[in-house]
Amino acid sequence: MTMSETEALKRITHLIGHEYWTGTAERTAPVFNPATGEITGRVDLASKELVDEVVRRSSKAAKRWGATSMTRRGRVLFAFRELLNANKEQIAEIITAEHGKTVADALGEVTRGLEVVEFACGIPHLLKGGHSENVSTSVDSYSLLQPLGVVGVISPFNFPAMVPMWFVPIAVAAGNAVILKPSEKDPSAVNAIAELWRRAGLPEDVVNVVHGDKEAVDALLDNREVKAISFVGSTPIARYVYERGTANGKRIQALGGAKNHMLVLPDADLELAADAAVSGGFGSAGERCMAVSVVLATESIADELVAMIAERVRTLKTGNGVGANDMGPIVTEQSRDRIAGYIAAGAEAGASLVIDGREGPFHGDPKGFFVGPTLFDHVSTDMSIYTDEIFGPVLAVVRVSGFEEGLGLINSNAYGNGSVIFTNDGGAARRFEVEVQTGMVGINVPVPVPMAYYSFGGWKDSLFGDSHAHGTEGVHFYTRSKTVTRRWPDPSARGLQLGFPQNN
Ligand code: NAD
Repeated sequence: MTMSETEALKRITHLIGHEYWTGTAERTAPVFNPATGEITGRVDLASKELVDEVVRRSSKAAKRWGATSMTRRGRVLFAFRELLNANKEQIAEIITAEHGKTVADALGEVTRGLEVVEFACGIPHLLKGGHSENVSTSVDSYSLLQPLGVVGVISPFNFPAMVPMWFVPIAVAAGNAVILKPSEKDPSAVNAIAELWRRAGLPEDVVNVVHGDKEAVDALLDNREVKAISFVGSTPIARYVYERGTANGKRIQALGGAKNHMLVLPDADLELAADAAVSGGFGSAGERCMAVSVVLATESIADELVAMIAERVRTLKTGNGVGANDMGPIVTEQSRDRIAGYIAAGAEAGASLVIDGREGPFHGDPKGFFVGPTLFDHVSTDMSIYTDEIFGPVLAVVRVSGFEEGLGLINSNAYGNGSVIFTNDGGAARRFEVEVQTGMVGINVPVPVPMAYYSFGGWKDSLFGDSHAHGTEGVHFYTRSKTVTRRWPDPSARGLQLGFPQNN
């Protein structure tokens, strides 16, 4: 790369107090366009000292913002909602340029984030505490929900807009100041969204963006002024964040990886099931924590179902996310190579490689990080393509004898994010819903992302902590309650009473 090309690279830096940081970063990381393989920018990586300085600023802002009336806070939320809606196409294009997913898919994620903003607009209703009159004679009791102060949000590469918006709007609406550390792989969308907060009238330092890697994450985890952290990423890092954060006295919700299974019973609508397997398996090139990565096909319909899935997979076009393609590239060259390695390992282990996505064709730059949709049949549960989260466009079909074996496999998996059943038997679907050990369940739909007013989150190794994201659990996570017992002096209540207080 020549000097002039280096100078042309976009600088992506922190957004602190609504201003882009003007300091000089000791460390930076390259940002790629995965569709061309080119480096398009460099992102500054925050030092511990910078994070600590931002925490100090955020802490002051939290005191002011937490004391701002709910009406004023709500107005900022409404204005932000309008700005986000007006700018969603532009944000989608920014996502595609750094993540690689198709523009239509990127627009979908911004829209799902927008729904959380709409939910957060109802914050006055959500922050109502309880009130009991006359719990004792002339004594009333009531509860308050108060903000925590400074909270951190650490997000993954695969949903650069939606995942931060699972958390930030609710934390802000509840009166907290947020420090957001997005993925260093596709950091620009978060800056574009943070600029909208400024335009919506949010006071400075209520939302600050610091870019970075482990050093910034550790600084947030260790700083005692940061009261809570919402993390989303791979399971090993989620576990680490949970353990280090809780050891430092923080409230942590750390959402981890997934291996989502789709059980197809013989009475299912197989056309519908095949559609769902392909949409759920290959949307966003499988880089979704809600992707279907395993189809559990009941033996009696397995041949027919695999043929239907294969027929659909062969129609998918992989290429540049801005073109008329179904799947874009993989986020980085390393991820592409890792996925290709899993495909090789699956074939080596003896699974039937029905469609090999390594072969193309790819409708884009040959230097792009492409892997096409890949379908394996006759996968056994000791193969790495079954045991590991691949996070790519690889769908594994495991043949099972029926409901019991399928449910047993899902429940013995270390992950517990989502699971799906396809059947027309209401009794089987109900048993599945009750007995399956995952946090999100689909019945005749691909793994669903719950609506903003419900909560998102898995079980077991897919989530460390007590609270799921958004919905009322999100409000609960970003507030703490206080219970007040109150009496106003009344001459008739005077007099000493040394016995243990009783309600009368
Ligand atoms: P990742 O774990 O590599 O990174 C997530 C965040 O952690 C990033 O902000 C990154 O900078 C930071 N990080 C990376 N290494 C770190 C370290 N050693 N110490 C401290 N922080 C570190 O995840 P990713 O590759 O960006 O995202 C994909 C993963 O996220 C997949 O496993 C996917 O299943 C998971 N995910 C889960 C959900 C969910 O809701 N459960 C949603 C989206 C993504």
